[in-house]
Formats: sequence, C-alpha cells, structure tokens
Amino acid sequence: MDQVEPDLPDPHPFASRLAAVERRITAACARAGRAREEVTLLAVSKTHSADAVAEAVRLGLTQFAESKVQEARAKIPLCPLRCRWHLIGHLQSNKARDAVALFETIQSVDSLSLAREIQKQSEKQSRHPKVLLEVNVAGESSKFGWAPDRVLEELMEVNALDRLEIHGLMTIAPYATDPEKVRAYFRRLRELRDRAADRLGAPLPVLSMGMSGDLEVAIEEGSTMVRVGTALFGDRPRPQRAPDESGAD
Ligand SMILES: *Cc1c(COP(=O)(O)O)cnc(C)c1O
Repeated sequence: MDQVEPDLPDPHPFASRLAAVERRITAACARAGRAREEVTLLAVSKTHSADAVAEAVRLGLTQFAESKVQEARAKIPLCPLRCRWHLIGHLQSNKARDAVALFETIQSVDSLSLAREIQKQSEKQSRHPKVLLEVNVAGESSKFGWAPDRVLEELMEVNALDRLEIHGLMTIAPYATDPEKVRAYFRRLRELRDRAADRLGAPLPVLSMGMSGDLEVAIEEGSTMVRVGTALFGDRPRPQRAPDESGAD
C-alpha cells in the first residue's frame, strides 16, 4: 500500500505507480542477488492513450508494448519518436506486414509458419526484426505459443530465417491470485531457454516473463523483461469479468 493522504487525489498518479513498480523490481532484484540493470521494464500501453505514453516517456520509460496491430497502427504515430515498440499479442499472418513495419521486437512469434511470414515481409521491407518465441509452458488451450518440446524441435528452422534475430523466449503465465503458484512455469521457461541456447550454440539473453501481478516471482526466476500494464497505467476496461472481481488489493 502506498497511500500517503487518503483524502486527497494523487496529483501524479502515473509517477506514483511508476515509483511503486520500481521499488518492487528493485526489491526483487535484491532478493535474487541480481543487478537492477538486468531487468527491463516494458510498459504495456494497450487500451491507454498516446498522451499516457508521452507522460511515461517524460518520466524516463522508453520501451512500450501493444497487443493489437490495429490499435498500434493508430497510436504509435502519435507517440514520441524515441519509443521502442514491442508486439506482445497474437499475430495473424495477414497482419505480419504491418507488424514488421511498426514494431522493433515481435515477442509473440508462436509458430514456424508465422516466423516464415515475418521473414517474407522483412525481406520486402529490408528489416531485421528482433523476435522472441512465445512458449505456452502450462499447455493452456486458451493460450497461443509453442509447446516446449516443439520449440526445441523447430528452433533451427526458425534460426535459418536470416531476417529474424532471435533474442529469447516469452511466456504468459496462467492467471493465479497467488503468484507463488506460477513460479514453476517461469523456472521452466528459463530452463527451456538454457536448452535452446545450447542447441543454437548462441546465447538467448531475453526472458520476457512477469506482469503486474507476478513480476517479483518472475525476476527471482531469471526474467530479464517484465511486461507491466495495470500497475503502471491503472485498470483497463475488462468487459469479460464481473466488476466485483477486480478486487481490492
Ligand atoms: C496485457 C498484457 C500484459 C500486462 O498485463 P498487466 O497485468 O496489466 O500488467 C503483459 N503481457 C501480455 C502478453 C499482455 O497481453
């Protein structure tokens, strides 16, 4: 809890939330014996405005993420030029062209066929996108991502696509109110990354894992990039859930 004056509205809510997130990251790094510089804070701006992004940039953030190509296409041109953009939502092949044009990093590469389409569009646009391979470590049917065995099997074929720079792996942990419940999935992604790097004979430095609710556990398990939306920008509209489920924590 970061309440200072319960009766007065916070005049700088974003700055306060950013400071709270920074404290959480710093504390988790300290517990894990890691340097703060090892973890990048990626600000997830989906559903939030270009003005909100600009404010985040004024406070020093530079890495931003969007889930949908269509929303990004409208928003990115309105945002400060120094923003570096990551795509974190499922990408349909027919939107690969726009994704390659808009994003420096595509974190949601979840199949060989999508990787091939990104290669094709990158050739046409003379781009070399950074990519992360998204892994569905918990095997949830509701989520996209490679099965862990499959990503190892197909890794060399993705690596043969010369336009793609594979920087590491990404996962979205199952939803859990107790973050300790997802620790094993983060650990599994790190172990998978180590095996994949062995197979490649090259390092895969990026482990994109951890969000607003579970970033501490992710950092303790080796995350190098936490993707934080709600804890920075506030609640997003959640039409699929009952209002009282948003809780009071
Ligand atoms: C929305 C989203 C996030 C951020 O989630 P919060 O809980 O709001 O921090 C992170 N990663 C992915 C892939 C997302 O879609």
